[in-house]
Amino acid sequence: MGFKQHFFFLILFLKLQVFGQLPVSPEQLLSEYVQVKSVTGNEAPAALFLLEKCREAGLKTFIFNDEQNSFNFAASLYPLESGKPNVVFHSHCDVVHEGDSSKWTYPPFSGTIADSAVWGRGAIDNKALAVMQLMAISGFVDTARQAELPYNFTMLVVSNEENGGQLGAGRVINEYLDLLNPVVVFGEGGTGTKNVLMADPERTVYGISIIHKQGIWLDLSLKNNGSAHGAIASGDNIYNRLVAGLYRLQRQKQKIKITDASCLMSKELSAYEKGFIKCVYRHPKLFFPLVKKRILNDPLLSLIFTDTYNITNIDSPYSPMNSVANEVHAILDCRFLEPTRNEDLIHYINRKTRCPGMNIQVLKESAAAVFTQPDRYYRWLREAVLQNDPDAAVVPILFPAICDNNYFRNKEIPTYGFLPCYISAESAKWIHNIDERIPIDCLYQGIDIYRRLIKKAVAGQY
Ligand SMILES: [Zn+2]
Repeated sequence: MGFKQHFFFLILFLKLQVFGQLPVSPEQLLSEYVQVKSVTGNEAPAALFLLEKCREAGLKTFIFNDEQNSFNFAASLYPLESGKPNVVFHSHCDVVHEGDSSKWTYPPFSGTIADSAVWGRGAIDNKALAVMQLMAISGFVDTARQAELPYNFTMLVVSNEENGGQLGAGRVINEYLDLLNPVVVFGEGGTGTKNVLMADPERTVYGISIIHKQGIWLDLSLKNNGSAHGAIASGDNIYNRLVAGLYRLQRQKQKIKITDASCLMSKELSAYEKGFIKCVYRHPKLFFPLVKKRILNDPLLSLIFTDTYNITNIDSPYSPMNSVANEVHAILDCRFLEPTRNEDLIHYINRKTRCPGMNIQVLKESAAAVFTQPDRYYRWLREAVLQNDPDAAVVPILFPAICDNNYFRNKEIPTYGFLPCYISAESAKWIHNIDERIPIDCLYQGIDIYRRLIKKAVAGQY
């Protein structure tokens, strides 16, 4: 055996030590996973790819559902049937559509590794999370063989998240919750970011999501009896009436809402601030009304402390330019900090738009938000992050987007949403966008944080 062969086996040995049973780097694994296209509705090939990698890594797999649009499985250190309390790491294998692929720097499903990043649809959302989880958990396969650990550690990989999750997390929860037996779920959500702290904008703040907003999507429509001539009085025009109603709705003054979760978040942030801001964050109910303008003008804070009503689409059947179409629809995307009933929302929209004859239909709703009170699992994660990045701040946050986490929170399972790495503001813009990519460093950071977290659980640390 020559020097080259020795060198090859040394590298292989080191990789096995670092990345468990898989003789492949995280970036290579992510690149291959991204290459298996899995736009929602066609997830099975990507799920099967990952399932095979989990088996190669020595994990015990259990397939819950194996349909093309609903492929859900678990991969664990111990078989699920062992009944051990289970620390569950959740990810979804579906991705959103790639959009116009000619606009991408590299083809969206090429998984190109370039400029110290892995490129492609799903690279951040949500395939990187699965790679971090697989690399971290598989590093404990031998430990689990040699000793009886207090917990099982499981990757839960599901479909359909980008379309509401009923065929993914929803199905697993409804049909297999007892078998899965989760004591905690770590899924997607917050991440590390900068420019959060006024006292020290350069300090990285890692936000661990403990709640996200409830979403209700409405179709607002107006109809004519047949199309009208473009020369009619403008007040009779259904388009004009709808646009005016939507304008009245958008002009409503936003109210700052301080819920139990946002109060907790604010108080935790206060530990990292100074002077007046520290005081404001420590007593949000008292001081927030005084700095209302500042909060409403801040894109991040306004998301966290207000409900939002966004028009996402206005549509009507085709009509020539001198005719008013016979119907017009607007889609309204509403997000709430607190549980909101459909009837109350419809009443509110009617009152604020003042649009007679408008029909309001609920298109879809997500479960009301339930909040996870930070417990010892939160502390494990927090400590793991701080061991990896000692100068950082870690706070519980509200995550404004909707994901699978609420399925678990609704079953009163502590659920933390967190991509365990620092993501720059620029990188965050690539999510659901063209040129989605994740810096390779993020993968290594995520694996390290997860490994530290698992070590704490293995040690039974409280
Ligand atoms: Zn996602």
